[in-house]
Amino acid sequence: MKLVFATHNDHKLKEVQQLLPENIQLLSLKDIECFDEIPETGNTLEENAKIKADYVTQTYGLDCFSDDTGLLVDALNGAPGVYSARYAGEQKKASDNMAKLLTELEGSDNRSAHFKTVVHLNLQGESFTFDGIVEGHITTELHGEGGFGYDPIFKPDGHDKTFGELPPETKNAISHRARAIQKLVAFLKKKTT
Ligand code: IMP
Repeated sequence: MKLVFATHNDHKLKEVQQLLPENIQLLSLKDIECFDEIPETGNTLEENAKIKADYVTQTYGLDCFSDDTGLLVDALNGAPGVYSARYAGEQKKASDNMAKLLTELEGSDNRSAHFKTVVHLNLQGESFTFDGIVEGHITTELHGEGGFGYDPIFKPDGHDKTFGELPPETKNAISHRARAIQKLVAFLKKKTT
């Protein structure tokens, strides 16, 4: 069975392919020759994940899933949330985004936050969603150079290091994305065996 993962990120694709049973062949957007920048115009992670998967299913007639992620900070009423990638502007620069977030939280005692990933799957005419969350808090300074995005300022609960400092295996075992993808994989295994 062929299934499109609506991503341009080969690293994400490989990671997910390794978790899936052999009878499911994942295709990237490149594999289906989709080079469009799919507009993420939704107001929620759920809407954006659906927009991306629906674009592929409607344009190419293929089963597809997509993911959308945000960092939700309690003291900022869930910001940057769905706008995480472009929090400090359309240049989508991680260092600018982190600097803005640290400024917004200056002097705040409440630094609780969570990452959330939503996966939207279109399969054989039906739609399904899965989510994954990791709770933690925002540090006052950057720590570590690993990962990407907000990793150097996010310390997951139960760890005394940020995602930027933790080894990738540790992050990948507990992350929001891993948790959502694990739910998707369990579902696909059940559906296809
Ligand atoms: P996307 O939906 O996976 O493209 O994620 C949107 C934005 O959320 C990214 O541009 C990052 O700023 C942030 N983000 C997503 N996943 C992570 C992560 O694992 N660590 C740090 N930041 C992340």
